[in-house]
Amino acid sequence: MRKIDIFDTTLRDGEQSAGVNLNTAEKLEIAKQLERFGVDVMEAGFPAASPGDLDAVRQIASTIKNSSVTGLARLVKSDIDAAWEALKVAECPRLHVFIATSPIHMTYKLKQTPEQVVETTVQAIKYAKQFFPIVQWSAEDASRSDPDFLAHIVEQAIKAGASVINLPDTVGYATPQEYGAMFKYMKENVPNVDQVKLSTHCHNDLGMAVANTLAAIENGADQVEGTINGIGERAGNVALEEVAVALYTRKDAYDIQSGLTLNEIKRTSQLVSQLTGMAIQANKAVVGKNAFAHESGIHQDGVLKEPTTYEIITPELIGEESNNLVLGKHSGRHAFNDRAKSMGFQLDKEALNQAFKEFKQLADRKKEITSEDLWTILTQQQLKDEDAAIYELESVQVHYGTEDSPMATARVKVPDGRILEDACNGAGSVEAIFNTLERIIDGKVHVLDYRVSSIGKGRDALGEAVINLTFNGEEFTGRGAAQDVLEASAKAYLNAINRNLLQSKMKQLISTSV
Ligand SMILES: [Zn+2]
Repeated sequence: MRKIDIFDTTLRDGEQSAGVNLNTAEKLEIAKQLERFGVDVMEAGFPAASPGDLDAVRQIASTIKNSSVTGLARLVKSDIDAAWEALKVAECPRLHVFIATSPIHMTYKLKQTPEQVVETTVQAIKYAKQFFPIVQWSAEDASRSDPDFLAHIVEQAIKAGASVINLPDTVGYATPQEYGAMFKYMKENVPNVDQVKLSTHCHNDLGMAVANTLAAIENGADQVEGTINGIGERAGNVALEEVAVALYTRKDAYDIQSGLTLNEIKRTSQLVSQLTGMAIQANKAVVGKNAFAHESGIHQDGVLKEPTTYEIITPELIGEESNNLVLGKHSGRHAFNDRAKSMGFQLDKEALNQAFKEFKQLADRKKEITSEDLWTILTQQQLKDEDAAIYELESVQVHYGTEDSPMATARVKVPDGRILEDACNGAGSVEAIFNTLERIIDGKVHVLDYRVSSIGKGRDALGEAVINLTFNGEEFTGRGAAQDVLEASAKAYLNAINRNLLQSKMKQLISTSV
C-alpha cells in the first residue's frame, strides 16, 4: 500500500482562524499531541510574524523529536533567516516558502511579472538551501494558475533545490476533477517531477476540501496538508481526521495509508477545540458529538442486530472511550497519578498535587469523574503558568432573583498578593459578573461573543465558558471551566484579560531588548 505523508498546519493556518490566539504553552501542548497522533510534519508557525511567534516555533522545534517541524516564510531573506533562527534546533528542520502564481495574485497583489516570480522563487530556494536540508515550496493559488506557467515554475523550483512542491487550492475554488487534473498535469509535464513529493493544501469554502484532497492523492500527491477539526482561514482547511478515516475505511478504493495513530483522533480533536475555543459542530464527520449516534428506531434496531448495518466507523477506531467512568471519590493519589501518566500528562510534583486537590474537590460535588473531567483539570494545571499570571479569581458571588436586578461581588488576586474586591449589578447574572470584573481590572472591555457548554454528560457535568472580547483595542479569547457556569464565566473573562496583558508585556520586553 502506498503511504502518504501528513503535514499538519493547525498551529499556522489553523491559528489564523478568526478569534484564535494560542499562547506558547498551548501551542506546545498541541504540538506534543500532534506528535503522539503521528503527523509526519507539523508547521509550527510563521517565525517572521513576531518575536513571540519565532519563540513559539523554536520551543516546539526543540521539543518535538518524532515529527519534522517546519515554519512558513515568504521568499525574502529576512523571513528565511527568522525561520532558520527558530528551526535550527530541530531534529529535522524544514522550511516552507511560498509565493503566488495565479495571474490575479501576481498582477494585483505581488505586482510582479511571471518571470520575476520565477526569479524570486529560484533565488530564495537557493538561499534557503544553504541552511535547510528540506525546502518545501508552495504555489499560492495554484488551482487558479495557468497550468503551463505552473509546470514551468515548478520545474525551476525543483532545479533550485525544493524537495516538496505544494499546490494549494488557496481560496477553496477548485472542483475535485479540476484539482485532480492539476496534479496529473504536473506529473506528466514537469520533467524533473520524480525528484520531489507533490503536496495538497485545500480550503473548504465550497465544502469540497476532503473531496479535492482525495482527488489529488489519486492523481499522484504524496503529502496532505490540513488541520485538526478543519480549522483555518475563513471556512477552514481540510480536516486531517476526515481524510485519514476516509483512507482507512475505504482502503479498498484508495489503497493508500497514512502513518497516523487513528485512536488518538478524538483526543487531538478535543484538545484543539478546547485550546482554540472553537467548538466542533455536533454533526461533524468523524469527531462530532453525534457522529456515532444512531437516532432512528430502524437504525438502532439494525445496529443492535449487526453493527455494520449502519456503522461504517466504530467509536473505538478514533479512540472514543465507551466506558468513560475513570475515577471516583475514593480514588487515591496513586491511582490519580497513574491515570494522569497514562493520559500522557507530564506534570511536575507541585502541579500534580494541585491537580489532585482539584480532583478531590470535584469528586466531593460530582459522583463520577470522567476522563473528560480529568482531562480538563490536568490541562488547566499544565497550562497554568502562562495563563493565570496576572489576575486570579479568588471568589465570585451573585445575588439573583427573578424580581430584582442581579448583583455580583468578586475578589481577584494580583501578583503582589493584594486582593481587589468590587461589586456591581447587571441586567443578568453574567453581565453583573462581567461588570464587576471590568471595574476591578479598570479598563474598557467589549464582549464580542460568549458561550457556555458542558464538558461530558449529566446534570453535574463541568461547565466550560469561552469568551471573546476586546480589551485595550485588541481581540482575545479566554476559557474557564468550573462546576458552576457563573464561576467558569468569571474565569474565562479573566483568562482573556490575562492573555491580553501577557502578550503586551511580552511585546514590551521585546521592543526594549532590540
Ligand atoms: Zn491555507
